[in-house]
Amino acid sequence: MARYTGPVCKLCRREGVKLFLKGDKCMTHCTLERRSSKPGQHGSGRSRKESGYAKQLREKQRVRRTYGILERQFHKHFDAAARRPGKTSENLLQILEMRLDNLVYRLGFADSRAQARQLVCHGHFAVNGRKTDIPSFIAKPNDVITVRERSKGLEYFKARALLLAQKGVPAWLSLDTNEMSGRVITVPSRADLELPFDEQMVVEYYQR
Ligand code: SF4
Repeated sequence: MARYTGPVCKLCRREGVKLFLKGDKCMTHCTLERRSSKPGQHGSGRSRKESGYAKQLREKQRVRRTYGILERQFHKHFDAAARRPGKTSENLLQILEMRLDNLVYRLGFADSRAQARQLVCHGHFAVNGRKTDIPSFIAKPNDVITVRERSKGLEYFKARALLLAQKGVPAWLSLDTNEMSGRVITVPSRADLELPFDEQMVVEYYQR
């Protein structure tokens, strides 16, 4: 399963915003706060005025990189969003939020989406009782995501269980810390998602 394996702070420097790709470390030791120039030889040079296309491209890259998805998969999600009734921009964010790796991150089982993706790939989670190791699996309302019985005894999940009690989850999810499981109550609306994106620009990018 393809994924980006290069330096992640470079992606934040390229986008000029914190994408929070390293989990809790981003709160205390952020590279972007110490070094805000763009990566590359001419990164600290005078920046040129961005065209409309460049702005759309940058917004698309911000969204894609935040969720840690490569271009081909992201485009597939966009196509699925465009086929659904309603606003394509909101549909896209909903699809991204309902990915299994994102839900594992949102429920607090991992510090970052990259870590969540790895945990999913290693087969530590079940959806509705069935082992699911596909990060791009799209969940539905009432789906229950559980740490598998054999994984609950691992040191990592024992430590997580203590941390989970202190963390909250978004209102559209519920968490049972004793069972190490979470449930999707509903698909989040745009207002539920505190994301600093202009997702309409992503739609304009693909429809140009
Ligand atoms: Fe981005 Fe986190 Fe690195 Fe800061 S520490 S640049 S937010 S990945």
